[in-house]
Amino acid sequence: MTDVLIIGAGPAGIFTALELVKLGAGKSVRLVEKGLPVEKRACPKAVTGRCVHCQPNCHITTGFSGAGAFSDGKLSLSREVGGDLPELIGGEETQRLIDYADQVYLRFGADRHVEGLGNPEAVKEIRRRAIVSGLKLVDCPIRHLGTEKAQEVYLRIERALLEAGVQIDFACDCQDLLVENGRCLGARVRRKDGVVEELRAGRTVVSVGRRGADWLEDQCRKHGIRREAGVVDIGVRVEVRNEVMERVNNVLYESKLIGYPKPFENKVRTFCQNPGGYVSQENYDGGLAVVNGHSYKEKKSDNTNLAILCSHHFRDPFDDPIAFAKKVGQLTNLLGDGRILVQRYGDILSGKRTWPHELQRSNVTPTLPDAVAGDIGSALPYRTMVNILNFIQAVDEIVPGFAGEETLLYAPEIKFYSNRVLMDEGLNSSVEGLHCLGDSSGWTRGLMMASAMGVHMARRLAGEK
Ligand SMILES: Cc1cc2nc3c(=O)[nH]c(=O)nc-3n(C[C@H](O)[C@H](O)[C@H](O)COP(=O)(O)OP(=O)(O)OC[C@H]3O[C@@H](n4cnc5c(N)ncnc54)[C@H](O)[C@@H]3O)c2cc1C
Repeated sequence: MTDVLIIGAGPAGIFTALELVKLGAGKSVRLVEKGLPVEKRACPKAVTGRCVHCQPNCHITTGFSGAGAFSDGKLSLSREVGGDLPELIGGEETQRLIDYADQVYLRFGADRHVEGLGNPEAVKEIRRRAIVSGLKLVDCPIRHLGTEKAQEVYLRIERALLEAGVQIDFACDCQDLLVENGRCLGARVRRKDGVVEELRAGRTVVSVGRRGADWLEDQCRKHGIRREAGVVDIGVRVEVRNEVMERVNNVLYESKLIGYPKPFENKVRTFCQNPGGYVSQENYDGGLAVVNGHSYKEKKSDNTNLAILCSHHFRDPFDDPIAFAKKVGQLTNLLGDGRILVQRYGDILSGKRTWPHELQRSNVTPTLPDAVAGDIGSALPYRTMVNILNFIQAVDEIVPGFAGEETLLYAPEIKFYSNRVLMDEGLNSSVEGLHCLGDSSGWTRGLMMASAMGVHMARRLAGEK
């Protein structure tokens, strides 16, 4: 019997464990992770040049530190970015937790430099242009770990947890929560060798990330864990030459812009900007290929990429946004023969697909070389496409050249955090003894807020007798 069983060793899960250890609450802590230790995670694409669809799990999203290991490692230091935790526990408390988690990252070797501070006049000018084009610029200082440095930081955390006596079961897939009479008693897991085991626990913390979001949604339905359907974000990853984004990159590093373009007035926003970065692919269970982006601290490309995401709300009778987003992703993958589709902005406006030879003569060389030139407009819903195209036009007024003919759009970019688990301020779900954290809970969308939520969880658990 473990005091605290944590399912999923992403930032949310590991910050829960780390803080429990630090508080010395005398509770036994066990982490169950379906992937591998961080030092054993490696994406073969660096050698093969194309995604080989690793089995049983994609190394990009699975293993110690979760989607954080191969992420760009941009820690958003403002409560305004990275999720809705402030709605649950209050804005000031969220900011305090972010500041605290930031100190923990520094203790484990994060770069001390913070981007986005120090040039207020230039920020003012960018904001003025944003206002004129009908967009909102969100202030958010950023600590950039960089993909390679993020792995080093998380390796130090992994070692610290093991040295502190936290049991971590790798290659161990949680299959089911054990719920009896409205109380969670632990979880049923399956090990690499196929052995299925029941792990009993006083408290069970589920932090399975975006890749576990649909599994958690199924568990909610099966065990009556109260939830609600949230929004689902579908969009594209845009890639332009660094020269186009230079000003914004230098002043802000990441420009967080939000708009509500006509005629639909749905929320559209930029997300995860990577100056000198690389477009990447991540794979979900069932083989769904989704585009993402990251950047290294030292190795730089000639391009900047960022996501443009469009929020989709659904109303009665439809209640399954994750299924909707998956269908859109599958259709896009179908047209790309299982790979990511890429199209030039100018070709979309001209109503034609992009051909490989057209990419070759372009100024913008795709940093995802195995993306397939094609027609994303044949797969993305009309409403999503119109929102994205109108948003790109608005950004062009802040960043001239953003809506250039050669600007690349990759699809599908999908964020699976639309299942929101209903909890109180102490992160208690409707099932006693069960808590849900991080991106899979629907309350966070980024490394820092997921980490902060983990710290909050640990403090609540440590305070119990
Ligand atoms: C390529 C990429 C770049 C990104 N860049 C940034 C960035 O720069 N800044 C930022 O703030 N965010 C970024 N993100 C998002 C960020 O990584 C996530 O928001 C964050 O990792 C969420 O933390 P989490 O702990 O909730 O979940 P995750 O990090 O997803 O971790 C969940 C863990 O649970 C495990 N798991 C899932 N299901 C099970 C199961 N059934 N049994 C056992 N284990 C399970 C998974 O293997 C995984 O290790 C990026 C994501 C990607 C993929």
